[in-house]
Amino acid sequence: MLKLKTTFLALALAGAATMATGLAASAQEKATVGISMPTKSSARWIDDGNNMVKVLKERGYNTDLQYAEDDIPNQLSQVENMVTKGAKALVIAAIDGTTLSDVLKQAKAKGITVIAYDRLIRGTPNVDYYATFDNFQVGVLQAESLVQGLGLKDGKGPFNIELFGGSPDDNNAYFFYNGAMSVLKPYIDSGKLVVVSGQMGMDKVATLRWDGATAQARMDNLLSAYYGNKKVNAVLSPYDGLSIGIISSLKGVGYGSADQPMPVISGQDAEVPSIKAMLRGDQYSTIFKDTRDLAKVTADMVDAALAGKQVTVNDTKTYENGVKTVPSYLLKPVVVYKDNWEKTLVDSGYYKKSQFQ
Ligand code: BGC
Repeated sequence: MLKLKTTFLALALAGAATMATGLAASAQEKATVGISMPTKSSARWIDDGNNMVKVLKERGYNTDLQYAEDDIPNQLSQVENMVTKGAKALVIAAIDGTTLSDVLKQAKAKGITVIAYDRLIRGTPNVDYYATFDNFQVGVLQAESLVQGLGLKDGKGPFNIELFGGSPDDNNAYFFYNGAMSVLKPYIDSGKLVVVSGQMGMDKVATLRWDGATAQARMDNLLSAYYGNKKVNAVLSPYDGLSIGIISSLKGVGYGSADQPMPVISGQDAEVPSIKAMLRGDQYSTIFKDTRDLAKVTADMVDAALAGKQVTVNDTKTYENGVKTVPSYLLKPVVVYKDNWEKTLVDSGYYKKSQFQ
């Protein structure tokens, strides 16, 4: 009897020891976080990827960062790979917000935490959290900058305007457009702003894949079809990369000279070439979204979720993805003009002054 007891005790002790070693081993093993970014064609996503890796590494994670070059099947197989290789969390900025349902089902089955990064993932219950900026407010700020640039509040006008939207497969594009229209619509209704082409609504003004060349071609068409004897005074552009295309088109027909000034043009992402365009007077405004803050908020979500703690969100109403309302953390976008760019972008350490010399 005594012997039996001793054996049992010994076994129990051995078991406890194994468990303890097991625990120690798994605590030392760093969890891997898969980071799936849409494209390297825009500097903001390169910054996003780098910032995510930096913050996660500082917090002791392994990272697997992949860029899909705006190719949907490519993004799908990259995310599948992350799931297969045992990522514990996925941070995904989708190219098309509706194409990831199958792989996310697999992810959920493995207990992987899924965070939609900047762009909402739609049509699936298997997205846990959403980290982004206040996208409606981005549109509001873009439109308010046009109102300011034109002097509409001082009673000036009427002015001619054309509208551009973002990619129709990106949920954000609708928020940007709707935010902007909440400001512009009253001026359009009162005749102070005239959309000469009549092209309004995302079904008419969207720009697939946020492609600058597509925006340039559409602007070419608008100018030749509707502006033979008229001038365009403002262009709502939701993204710096589109603004660059729009500016090229306008320059091609002589805008940007003393007798034919550039229209007031908005943008987004505060990309270096567009800040330079602003300093030259080609672009009027852009929107700065500090990707360092977005990376931090996202890493906080990863930390809390993997530790089984409550994840901090500040919006549980806005981002309905067709299946569920995704708990979100919204950061504040900042409008950038010629007179605050240095304070906003250089003094904050986001860019170096030398990048603009
Ligand atoms: C982002 C914008 C970006 C756009 C094009 C959107 O989803 O929120 O910041 O300008 O994609 O890359």
